[in-house]
Amino acid sequence: MRNFSRRSWIGALGAGGLATPSRGAARAGLAVEIRRLKLRHTWTTVMSSSDYRETVHVAFTRDGMTGRGEGAPIPRYGEDPPSARSAIEALRPLLASADPRRFQPLLAMIFQRLEGQWAAKAAIDIALMDWATQKLGVPLYQYFGLDPGQAPVTTFSIGIDTPEMTRHKVREAEAFPVLKIKVGLDTDEQTVAAVRAVTRKPLRVDANEGWKDKHEAVRKINWLEQEGVEFVEQPMPAGMLEETRWVRSRVRLPIIADEASLHPEDVPRLAEAYDGINIKLDKCGGIWEAFRMIQLARALRMKVMLGCMISSSVSITAAAHLSPLADYADLDGNLLIANDPYRGVEVRGGKLILPDRPGLGLLPAGGA
Ligand code: MG
Repeated sequence: MRNFSRRSWIGALGAGGLATPSRGAARAGLAVEIRRLKLRHTWTTVMSSSDYRETVHVAFTRDGMTGRGEGAPIPRYGEDPPSARSAIEALRPLLASADPRRFQPLLAMIFQRLEGQWAAKAAIDIALMDWATQKLGVPLYQYFGLDPGQAPVTTFSIGIDTPEMTRHKVREAEAFPVLKIKVGLDTDEQTVAAVRAVTRKPLRVDANEGWKDKHEAVRKINWLEQEGVEFVEQPMPAGMLEETRWVRSRVRLPIIADEASLHPEDVPRLAEAYDGINIKLDKCGGIWEAFRMIQLARALRMKVMLGCMISSSVSITAAAHLSPLADYADLDGNLLIANDPYRGVEVRGGKLILPDRPGLGLLPAGGA
């Protein structure tokens, strides 16, 4: 309950219910707040540059147990932290009175009521699943029947920077066996040369839709193959499916969709142009939508990558619990911030180590 205002708890207790609560059941408490996460380095991609990020945090309390969730609103999809917070606040009466053990019909109702606001949906879904699996007394991965030993290594992302800073960041990331390099500007050659001046380890490259011309994309991807790159994420704009299909037929490296891969219904058509999809809880709306996307991708023989936004350990740990289902993980968003309020998933030698405590297994930062 630390850091959540008293007023929001009282508000939760006084809210009127729309769903039918079990007879005599205690009402749930809901706290919603925007947290400012300070970045260790100014973060630059093709899309933006900034020193901090704000995410929306949800604490759902019932029966003396608190489930925590988080979502990083993505401006591209018309979301920002205040609108995400308002969207969750509007669901307060429903969340206060519904039975969280029946989280599937509850989430279905929330998805039906709430237009867009995928980060808000993710924050609620994660909080409910943290609560439900704490209630069952099992870690989230165990609820899904997964082997935590199969969690993959995570890449550590190197944002676009000067060659000097790029070399510095690559040295700082020495503990990670695979790096993810952001490209997509006219400095790509310079960036990759700076990385290769420091390390020969495998690289994964994210162009963030940066190459607008299909011939340029083919040229860059074939050059990156010579540079020891394992795959390329979103080489061309999300809307250029036909061009991406053309590019894919002319390169050997796998092409992974990120900005083009938002929701389960996107997956079948992406199979025509991409080898895999990058799933992020903030884009799709939480753990269950991510799980559905994984199943669809597998049915279509596509690779699965789990990615993230810059977030605290709440959101990153939630995604990490599904990571034994993924081929690739890029779950470093919590490692890029200086004031993470929680501890959850850890990284040892690049490998994701899932907490074996019930639920997400979060602890307060600095706590035992
Ligand atoms: Mg990406």
